[in-house]
Amino acid sequence: MKPEAEQKKQRKISDPRALVNRIHMRWHIFAYFLGFCAFLLLLLWLLQIVYLDAFYRQIKTDQIARIASTLDDNIDNRDLPDLIVRMAQSNDVCITVAQVHTVNRFLLGVDVLEKADILGNCVIHHMPDDEYYRFYELAEKNGGSYSLLFSRQWFANDEYQSDRFIGRVPEADQGLSSSLIYVKLVENDAGDTIMLLLNSNISPVDSTREALRVQLIYITLILVFVALLLSLLISRHLASPIASINKSAAKLAREDFSGGFADGGYLEISELASTLNYVSAELSRADKLQQELVANISHDLRTPLTMIGGYAEAMRDIPGENNKENIQLIIDETARLTSLVNNVLDLSKLNAGIVNNKPCSFDLNADLAATAENYNRLLAHEGYQIHYTPGPPCPVYADQSQISQVTGNLLNNALTYTGPDKQVTLRLEQQAGQARVSVIDNGPGISPEQLADIWKRYYRVSESHRRSARGSGLGLSIVKKLVELNHGDCGVSSQVGQGSVFWYSLPLAQPPAEEGNGK
Ligand code: ADP
Repeated sequence: MKPEAEQKKQRKISDPRALVNRIHMRWHIFAYFLGFCAFLLLLLWLLQIVYLDAFYRQIKTDQIARIASTLDDNIDNRDLPDLIVRMAQSNDVCITVAQVHTVNRFLLGVDVLEKADILGNCVIHHMPDDEYYRFYELAEKNGGSYSLLFSRQWFANDEYQSDRFIGRVPEADQGLSSSLIYVKLVENDAGDTIMLLLNSNISPVDSTREALRVQLIYITLILVFVALLLSLLISRHLASPIASINKSAAKLAREDFSGGFADGGYLEISELASTLNYVSAELSRADKLQQELVANISHDLRTPLTMIGGYAEAMRDIPGENNKENIQLIIDETARLTSLVNNVLDLSKLNAGIVNNKPCSFDLNADLAATAENYNRLLAHEGYQIHYTPGPPCPVYADQSQISQVTGNLLNNALTYTGPDKQVTLRLEQQAGQARVSVIDNGPGISPEQLADIWKRYYRVSESHRRSARGSGLGLSIVKKLVELNHGDCGVSSQVGQGSVFWYSLPLAQPPAEEGNGK
């Protein structure tokens, strides 16, 4: 036994899922938060540090292309010079508008029409004329526009070389801005080719990037701390109702039904609590019933056993007592004991689902007629009478002995509870593909509050009826189980003082096939 338990424990430890199940909820939540933070930080890192330059350049290029397109739209406007100056100032760009003289796309000359030189150190206003030709050709080849980004290092002409120093020294091209030149060829209303030249400086973003990097380190630390705090708070909020439910469940496991399951403050926990409260109530009821059963059954067993013992002793010791009546009494009491024990056994088998159901087609009418006749023969001397008017054949498909047991249980109850006239009626009707059997008595009836409970195991309305010693409160639950097993239904209608009608119904058997009839 011991090594097996040891092995089980070992298996549990090596199983990663079992290991995960042993981790406290707060660490699960913390891990999720950390994952989320890591994702967020990675995104920020990529966008703000790694691709910052590329973004900035792209934004500048888009901006300068937009300015060129606005100028193109207004190329014939009288007030174009004003627009050029205003756009140059508000966007920090230098602008040159030049007319291009060409023959067969061969550039002959360039006349600068307008210019706005606001940067002071731009390239387009300080370049030799040859460059116009170069930019014209590049734009011409590129479908009418061209953009060029280059480091101002090319123009800085200094001798700084970073590899001559040690430590974290600036790279040769670091700290110097880049320059973005945008060329666009447009045509005015007169058909002249106009070259728009725009130049903007792209400042280095290294210092910004460094500031963001430091900020990100702080943000990371703050986020980890907040994630830890939040996971503790959330786990406490989530886990405390679960822990309280767990405590109550442990109590329930010890068969302590006092104290219910507390509501958790959110839907899922409330639902779990109400389900467990229901389970607890049912378990408590079952426990109570079980205790009652032990009391009932021991009482039910003791009464006939005492009688059998008493009569047997009297027959042994008292002359003349060894007579036929006393022997019959012992036989009757033994029969009662047997029926009680059989009922308990039947119900436990039915509940365990180990009852063999052997359905076959049989005539329920004939079965009921025979049952009524047997009962009448046996009970005639006690004055009881069962009225049954046989009708047409009524074929049903069910387990015949189980259905006989159902009829027997209902008849026994009706005979036990019927009024002083000792009359019971048995009736069979066929309707809507169903055979319906009713057992009618004119006894005290059952109150509406008790009607729902009589089908429960070990339930007995009261101990005061005439043949109560016979009842164990099992008969009707056996009836219900057997009828359900045979795909039928059962029920009762009763009113206090007006007798009861207990009924069950079974599906009618399919009529035999045509060819079978012909034979
Ligand atoms: P029991 O063996 O005690 O009769 P049952 O399960 O057969 O157990 O019946 C449960 C309870 O239903 C009975 O104790 C009785 O109070 C009530 N009952 C059953 N049949 C009738 C009836 N025909 N008239 C009045 N009460 C009945």
